[in-house]
Amino acid sequence: MRIRTMKFGGTSVGDGEAIRRTAKLIGASVDEGYGVVAVVSAMSGVTAALIRAATAAETGQADVFRSARLQLLTRHLQAISACVAEADQEQISEEVSSLLDLLLRLCESVSVLGELTDRGRDAIVALGERMSCRIVAGCLRGLGYDAVPVEATRLIVTDARYGSANPLMEETRQATRDVLLPLLEAGKVPVVTGFIGATRAGVTTTLGRGGSDFSGSLLGSALGSEEIWIWTDVDGVLTADPRLVPEARSLPEISYAEAAELAYFGAKVLHPKTMLPAQAAGIPIRIKNSFNPDHPGTLITAKAEPSEQGVRGITAVKGLSLVTVEGRGMLGVPGIAAKVFTAVAREGISVLVITQSSSEQNICFVVPGSSAERAIAALEAEFAVERARQDIDDIRAQHNVGVVAVVGAGMKGTPGVAARVFDALGSRGINVICIAQGSSENNLSFVLDEADIEEAVRAVHSRSCLNGGACA
Ligand code: ADP
Ligand code: ASP
Ligand code: MG
Repeated sequence: MRIRTMKFGGTSVGDGEAIRRTAKLIGASVDEGYGVVAVVSAMSGVTAALIRAATAAETGQADVFRSARLQLLTRHLQAISACVAEADQEQISEEVSSLLDLLLRLCESVSVLGELTDRGRDAIVALGERMSCRIVAGCLRGLGYDAVPVEATRLIVTDARYGSANPLMEETRQATRDVLLPLLEAGKVPVVTGFIGATRAGVTTTLGRGGSDFSGSLLGSALGSEEIWIWTDVDGVLTADPRLVPEARSLPEISYAEAAELAYFGAKVLHPKTMLPAQAAGIPIRIKNSFNPDHPGTLITAKAEPSEQGVRGITAVKGLSLVTVEGRGMLGVPGIAAKVFTAVAREGISVLVITQSSSEQNICFVVPGSSAERAIAALEAEFAVERARQDIDDIRAQHNVGVVAVVGAGMKGTPGVAARVFDALGSRGINVICIAQGSSENNLSFVLDEADIEEAVRAVHSRSCLNGGACA
């Protein structure tokens, strides 16, 4: 059977009208003869509302989580009455209300304990997708398709890292095939919750914010789909975040590696892990706009032709800190870098960019701002002896920095890209704090003061000839 896996983001299921449009897009692929697996996010804003409710519960603000529950109930019931056939409305409304009763009980327990564990938070935030998948399936049934909601806790097996769980690939593949293939063979359309999975013991986990893209790719790859389609609210992957650069243009084709770099450095359109399973299985990913389905969007494959001008896109991440470890005693001493990154890794802190000066007197790296204090404490403990000997003089963090990444496989062997980038920054008086370029030359990234990020992205975008038209 030819299988197509389609993931729909929060805005694509944001209200009854959007859900109806989504259901028609799913139906159109079924009509083409595909076995279609739909993977859906929570309605837009619902995950954030659930997180706020959980956080309010921790500090005993019962009025806040109770009113969140009521608002969520109203919003979901409105969507049901707008897009589900009458015969199905009562049943789905009951299911949604009982999920929201569960929200209330979970929040009350958190409130009594006065503690919100990562595990408890996952149980709460998973409710968004558990509600939306039922409504989308209901809408599809009204259009004459035999749709069934499926909870990904039966499909995606993960470790117990609540909040950003890692899938266990082989078990996930097996469970996904065991549950979904018989449904597809029976002519059904499974509508699966994005974002969530479960441990081997069956405890609900989540894959991290924006993780439904990853869910779509995991399931699509496990099933050997022909393609994985990610439906969102823009015409594919653009040369930059359209909210920052209104002239950003849609990229017809990019490689897995380029997409992964863009996503890793902040292009919200894709969760950074999305490319991994698809690339391993050699399955193309297509990004499309559910509000403009005729636009071809972006095709992500292994063999996308590099762009002529070298640069494919510009992205940025904010809210970071630059950590520096410095000292004359580091010169020529083997193993310092290993100790630095072992200490940071032990804390479970991810590092975005690393640079080392050629005199070996300092190592700088960038971490999420929220992890900076922990990184410093871990380094102070690790290097207590070197500090006492004054081999290391300083371990410090500079806060409120961001990283801009210039991405493109065509940068390799295209001279002058870096010159254009730094000329664009220099001509606007933007100070670059540090620079890193991987040997793959797929990515040139640099650290800036957070306040300069937006102007920097716009300047580099225009100077890298991505604005279209004439190019200086
Ligand atoms: P969904 O809910 O469909 O997953 P997201 O909001 O997570 O959608 O991602 C889509 C959004 O990502 C777009 O609306 C856009 O504002 C933002 N975005 C940031 N960078 C890019 C980029 N390079 N290309 C496309 N969209 C981007
Ligand atoms: N609903 C989840 C979130 O908002 C997952 C997703 O939409 O991809 O993070
Ligand atoms: Mg998303």
